Amino acid sequence: MSVLRSAKLALLRASRSSSLYRVAAASRWRSSRLLILCYHGVALEDEHQWQSNTFISAPDLESRLRYLRDEKYEVLPLGEGIRRLTTGSLPPRSVVITFDDGFYNFKERAWPLLQNYGFPATLYLTTFYSTYNRPIFRLCCSYMLWRNRDKTIGPAASLGIPRAMSLATRWDRELVLRLLTRYATANDSSAADKDALAQGLARILGFDFEWLLRRRLLHLMKPDEVAELAVKGLDVQLHTHRHRTPLDRDLFQKEIRDNRNWILDCTGKDPVHFCYPSGQCQRVFFPWLSEMRVATATTCQPAFATSASNPLMLPRYLDGSDKPLVEVEGWLTGFATLLPRKSFEPPMQ
Ligand SMILES: [Zn+2]
Repeated sequence: MSVLRSAKLALLRASRSSSLYRVAAASRWRSSRLLILCYHGVALEDEHQWQSNTFISAPDLESRLRYLRDEKYEVLPLGEGIRRLTTGSLPPRSVVITFDDGFYNFKERAWPLLQNYGFPATLYLTTFYSTYNRPIFRLCCSYMLWRNRDKTIGPAASLGIPRAMSLATRWDRELVLRLLTRYATANDSSAADKDALAQGLARILGFDFEWLLRRRLLHLMKPDEVAELAVKGLDVQLHTHRHRTPLDRDLFQKEIRDNRNWILDCTGKDPVHFCYPSGQCQRVFFPWLSEMRVATATTCQPAFATSASNPLMLPRYLDGSDKPLVEVEGWLTGFATLLPRKSFEPPMQ
């Protein structure tokens, strides 16, 4: 941990102890703002140790939900939160909970916790890997490389790896991952080809791919699972069909259209809220989204939404197991916004 981050956390702990958190949470400033929380995966095994910024352990997630309940935060459905933000009628300590992508782990880990605490949530669902229900290629390769970080790999012509390469550091693994994805692209690989490539990687690493399939690690929920949760009250919204945002208007809108039709077929509800895949928010998308009747779009820029926020650029606070609870609490109260911070865009696919 950097010196700056340590100092920041020490300051947050001191502020919490001296009741500054309570003062911030009760302020008029906080009451006119909405904090949209952003989650991705909830670990089924050890994924939160592999990508602690985009995965959270179930106990860590529960610590957040318990805090929201005990400190009497008002967890609103996304649509209601945005409506009350624009009409100036937010209740004190307003929060919205969102999950990106639609991992199977949402159903197994997050949904039962949300039900226990009685909190509504929005799921921004990317749909291709829901129908093609195999592990997401780039994520499962990255995970297998991390699990084998004590090894070297290559040369392996069948994977496009020309020489022996270490897997020890994050940068080493990123380099191997780049070679794998480049190899898949160069061979114009289909989703099935990429799945075979991932299985080839597992064989070479001696990794139990069948276990990953059985456990449904890095899989999305199947259509019938999404439908089941939607009936029980889960709000399902847009995140593109293939988790991509092409810079061509027609291709971009096709991503939204395919995603929307899929969700409409599955849930019977027309989604109008969007989340930029990998936080890739660009101004060129705004008119394209408006033409598609998209009412709001969320980013991964950490900040509070206010009545002055651009509805197609709503900020969110990205939470994961890399965040100590004192920091998350600092954000919920609003106090943490007083400290300097940098933006972050999570990787995906
Ligand atoms: Zn995503």
